[in-house]
Amino acid sequence: TAAAATTSASTTTVTKIVTQPAVHGTVIAHGDPTFLESVDIYFDKAAAIASTTPDILAQIKACNNILKVQFPLKCANGTVELIEAYRAQHSHHRLPVKGGIRMAPNVDADETMALAALMTFKCAVVDVPFGGAKGGIKIDPTKYSANEKEAIIRRYTSELVRKNFIGPSIDVPAPDYGTGPQEMAWIKDTFEHLQPNDINGAACVTGKPLEEGGIDGRQEATGLGVFFCLREFLNDEALVARIGLTTGIKGKSFIVQGFGNVGRHTIDSIYGAGGKITAIAELDGGLVAESTEGIDIPALKAYHKKKGTITGFPGAKTVKFAPAILELPCDVLIPAALETQIHSGNAGNIKAKIVAEAANGPVTPLAETILEDNDVVILPDLLLNAGGVTVSYFEWLKNLNHIHFGRMSRRMEERGKTVLIDALENEFGNGHRISAEVRSQVVKGNTEVDFVWSGLEETMLMSWENVKRTAEERKCNFRTAAYLIAIERIAACYRVSGIFP
Ligand code: GLU
Repeated sequence: TAAAATTSASTTTVTKIVTQPAVHGTVIAHGDPTFLESVDIYFDKAAAIASTTPDILAQIKACNNILKVQFPLKCANGTVELIEAYRAQHSHHRLPVKGGIRMAPNVDADETMALAALMTFKCAVVDVPFGGAKGGIKIDPTKYSANEKEAIIRRYTSELVRKNFIGPSIDVPAPDYGTGPQEMAWIKDTFEHLQPNDINGAACVTGKPLEEGGIDGRQEATGLGVFFCLREFLNDEALVARIGLTTGIKGKSFIVQGFGNVGRHTIDSIYGAGGKITAIAELDGGLVAESTEGIDIPALKAYHKKKGTITGFPGAKTVKFAPAILELPCDVLIPAALETQIHSGNAGNIKAKIVAEAANGPVTPLAETILEDNDVVILPDLLLNAGGVTVSYFEWLKNLNHIHFGRMSRRMEERGKTVLIDALENEFGNGHRISAEVRSQVVKGNTEVDFVWSGLEETMLMSWENVKRTAEERKCNFRTAAYLIAIERIAACYRVSGIFP
């Protein structure tokens, strides 16, 4: 590993050697670039072969705005604490800009800018018409009460309103690491209090609870998108043959890092399709399956719901040091937690044949070189985890339309089918009636979630085909192909829109 790391270090453009703080249980001190530098390195690699001009590339690469706010929080114990938070808007080539808000202790300006850049490129890859943004609140959410978190989120939202960093046509946050529907509901409520005349106020944030204008299927969307893409890759005979695998999800072994919203739903879909989850890594430890059948996921979910942790689950072996789990043998390794988890220090020990990036930026450029030298295929974050923002787009459209998708489509479908049934009955003649049972079967389906997931599947499949074709045509890996698609699409916008003033 050490030798491999040294060789690849000399071939990759790394200008600054840094030591990063401990993240998700691993310490990165192997000469990897920072997360922000990594995004720039990946961008530059594609930029070198992109068909556009250097001035446009410079405009695309730069982060347009970064807001830092510091505000006091009255804690439950009577003390006052200063909270540090950010919002970065990377590119305004499409409006609004879009991206989640995370709550984690390692949040800083650089991380927020890196994540905002990934949002810009991700949206372009799946052709979702948003610019990229990201927010971060530098706290460990597990250390705060619900009331304290509500105060933090409401104050943060008010800072965004005051500085014009939120709004249905400006900048639309969403959930990310450490946040979920509850936080989004507080954001919406705060925004609507401060902007009472905005008839589209509900569209100021996505990932909301259903009762608050959320969309059915958003919770599962990122994991489901990961699954759709993986399924397509694994069904491609030529591609899997190159890494010595047979086609299909069924029977393959998967290791997942992270049991949050993304990891959980990815696991669910894979398990449902007959994949074996052989190990799961979490912050406080991990699980390794004792049977060759993998972990019993429904049982694990029930355990997790009760205990709030996966560790100690009686159906598998609990391992204290979770990062070691990434190095166990498997077919597919899915990092679904935080950035830079696979770095030059552990990449050489990875035994998976495929690394599927459900997280944002989980593989450093040095690690990528090492993995590729070992014939490991990487399915890049820009494509793989874009299902979340795709369904956020559907939610935003739903809010702007002030209607839920099932409301019209189901009636249309029912009407169409009623007409069909009438036609059939006429055809049979003699007053023949189609039975009520058959009738109800015919008119079933087409609810909002059907609509959302079919749109998600279509988006992921089209985008995957595009990335695959681009990788073949431009003779590059899938990551560079995804960056190329994004850069060239964004460049086309910049070119025709010109420069203001
Ligand atoms: N935080 C998610 C991401 O990294 C979703 C962003 C969104 O829905 O706007 O893609």
